[in-house]
Amino acid sequence: MNFSDLGLSDAILRAVSERGYTDPTPIQKQAIPAVLSGIDLLAGAQTGTGKTAGFVLPILHRLSDKTIKGPSEGRPPIRALILVPTRELAAQVEESVREYGKYLKLASMTMIGGVNINPQITRLRSRVDILVATPGRLLDHVGQKTIDLSRIEILVLDEADRMLDMGFIRDIRKILTLLPKTRQNLLFSATFSDEIRSLAAGLLKNPETIEVARRNTTAETITHKVHPVDRDRKRQLLAHLVKEHNWHQVLVFTRTKHGANHLAEYLAKNGIPSLAIHGNKSQSARTRALSEFKEGSLQVLVATDIAARGIDISELPHVVNFELPNVPEDYVHRIGRTGRAGQSGEAVSLVCVDELKLLSNIEKLLKLKIPQEVIRGFEPDRNAKPEPIRMGGRR
Ligand code: AMP
Repeated sequence: MNFSDLGLSDAILRAVSERGYTDPTPIQKQAIPAVLSGIDLLAGAQTGTGKTAGFVLPILHRLSDKTIKGPSEGRPPIRALILVPTRELAAQVEESVREYGKYLKLASMTMIGGVNINPQITRLRSRVDILVATPGRLLDHVGQKTIDLSRIEILVLDEADRMLDMGFIRDIRKILTLLPKTRQNLLFSATFSDEIRSLAAGLLKNPETIEVARRNTTAETITHKVHPVDRDRKRQLLAHLVKEHNWHQVLVFTRTKHGANHLAEYLAKNGIPSLAIHGNKSQSARTRALSEFKEGSLQVLVATDIAARGIDISELPHVVNFELPNVPEDYVHRIGRTGRAGQSGEAVSLVCVDELKLLSNIEKLLKLKIPQEVIRGFEPDRNAKPEPIRMGGRR
């Protein structure tokens, strides 16, 4: 199937082909016709599947379709609201809206916290058709009466599971009360907990449910590997691996913000350009780190789970779990960043004796025994005793 078979307008197809895409991904094949038809959608898809274009393209089409009665004169109201969990994801989704919509007369805006609210208030005085927002800042605007959500036609909850993990459920419910009753609702989530199902049940009317194969079951393009190592030698091993294999664009996950900072400093001191991103960093520091990483001048980006959520970097070749996540699903989220859209990738985990239980939980979820390789010179002490894992907050 080709993009041109999906019923999208020529202006949108032109932008898609300029981006270099020829064939729609599985989620796009299913989501695009469904969204175009106007129905509600419950989609199981995670980062890396092409889900963003799966909702952005048909939304652009619907909002620009002259045969659908849109707002009439003057400045049109905000017609589509895309809620996302993180600032980075907001920026990336809005960039997609702009890129795919570059031949359309629609205007979009990112609304995120951590930056001055005043430029956003000014921006809201001119045309915004599509708003990409994180829930907290959106509610700040609602509180200041600087935004009108009463004409929203399409609502997207992107990475809904993450939004719930991050405690946004009450914000989301509040936002829902501000929207018109008749609207199209699209819910995207990588996982389906009971909480997601209950949110979906209250939100979606006769939804079409689509689920693309999860990366953990179909990830032939991703090679998983475990390097057993002692707890206090992980840093040296990581530096060794990066240098030995001359790895570039390595995304490294730590459990804590503190751990991320320390590791990035250690690597930088050892001649490997590295920076950490997490919730305590300013928005400009995060944006700078991400762009240096994307363009290749930054060899290693160290991130916590939440900060890394939704980072859109294509062809990311290496993801390293410096520490295994406590929640096995987070492993899937982490490696969702490698080997995306058909590229091959490698997910490497440095595992010490404290983490063996976490490893076996991950293997159970993946239904996969991850091959182990001891690196010469980093053989773990066979008599080492496990210690409890220290946590410093999830971000
Ligand atoms: P997403 O799941 O939306 O975060 O997208 C994952 C990655 O796949 C992004 O880097 C997109 O630019 C890329 N992508 C999206 N759709 C396609 C497509 N049809 N063909 C090739 N790459 C795509």
